[in-house]
Amino acid sequence: MTRLLHRAIRGTMPVAIGGAGITLNDADGKSYIDASGGAAVSCLGHGHPDVIAALHRQADRLAYAHTGFFTSEPAEALAERLIEDAPPGISHVYLVSGGSEAVEAALKMARQYFVEKGEPQRRHIIARRQSYHGNTLGALAAGGNELRRAQFKPLLIETHHIDPCYAYRLQKPGESDQAYAARAAQQLEDKIIELGPDQVIAFVAETVVGATAGAVPPVADYLARIRSICDRYGILLILDEVMCGMGRTGTLHACTQDGVAPDLMTLAKGLGAGYQPIGAVLLSQHIFDAFAGGSGFFQHGHTYMGHPMAAAAALAVQDVIRRDNLLANVAAIGAELDRRLQERFADHRHVGDIRGRGLFRGLELVADRATKQTFNPALKLHARVKQAAMAHGLMVYAMGGTIDGRHGDHVLLAPPFIVTRADIEVIVERLGAAI
Ligand code: PMP
Repeated sequence: MTRLLHRAIRGTMPVAIGGAGITLNDADGKSYIDASGGAAVSCLGHGHPDVIAALHRQADRLAYAHTGFFTSEPAEALAERLIEDAPPGISHVYLVSGGSEAVEAALKMARQYFVEKGEPQRRHIIARRQSYHGNTLGALAAGGNELRRAQFKPLLIETHHIDPCYAYRLQKPGESDQAYAARAAQQLEDKIIELGPDQVIAFVAETVVGATAGAVPPVADYLARIRSICDRYGILLILDEVMCGMGRTGTLHACTQDGVAPDLMTLAKGLGAGYQPIGAVLLSQHIFDAFAGGSGFFQHGHTYMGHPMAAAAALAVQDVIRRDNLLANVAAIGAELDRRLQERFADHRHVGDIRGRGLFRGLELVADRATKQTFNPALKLHARVKQAAMAHGLMVYAMGGTIDGRHGDHVLLAPPFIVTRADIEVIVERLGAAI
């Protein structure tokens, strides 16, 4: 019997004991293809020798130094690397231990930025329904997935939610992408005006919506319109790329494909690829300048931020991605994955939509393709698909509540960047069997 709360509540799970490449093994001798990278984390797969060697080297040298006293070589080197590859305008990095911590820090940075600028009255955050930004109270408040929020209301920070950019269900028949992008982005402007432009801090969005929606990318032009609305009203754009970032979509940052740069960006998951817990906030020069020219200090901090072991692992992961030109693989094999998914599921009566970018792909499951009718939530179809996939030796990230936190089911695929064409065939075959 387990004494772990998460496992005790969820029921019995296999015990993972090892892994190599795209495969994980359990204590009963069964192996699983990790087609979800856990939750879009394990982008180099398991047991990568270069990352393990970097961890050993760093453990031998220095495991921990508190950031109240020191910075460290790996943390500095990682920050340099992240800035080198960052979207335009980004000038500084704040290292934390995961995605929720990154989102919390970004929200607080945005708030303090306006306090430093003498606009402390700004207090509203605008975000989107359907999205997920983490489980700590601030990040949870920003998230728009009702299922996850409901039990914890009232939440601590005031957030307001607009519709996601969700072409499958919200784009009208015959409506062009341009027209839909304009209509979807207009909701942001309307909300800003309703709340009062000088009362709003920031708009927060996942560039490609991951866990709670199944790899929903924005239509062309949507993010560019969002960017210009934020600029028009002087509010900050925070892009949460915790799940879709660090190469997952084929470019290091997903927003590069939309030609948009945020004021603040959150990263985690693929940054350390699971070898150590790590997250980061990338911030732009004007935010740094407001702190530097004001109180001179970001009023925040965590004990393990900038952890040398975590930074060393993340740097090694990023070195391997560069050296082995893995983003090209993400783009090429991602296109192949899309092709195989279309081939296998485009006519499947229970697959309504196939979407995503790079090695970040989602299937939306429906009871009826013609009406897009969802399955009865009580069936917990996503959980059954996940369980069936596990029985077939395949890990997929399947969730319910796709549309509004209650209705809809989706399957998210986020295999390691080292996946091959042959692997893709097996993944699609096993997924087909599970569905
Ligand atoms: N933001 C996004 C977009 C995420 O997908 C997640 C994790 N699923 C988080 C934030 C929270 O990250 P963590 O679980 O590392 O706290």
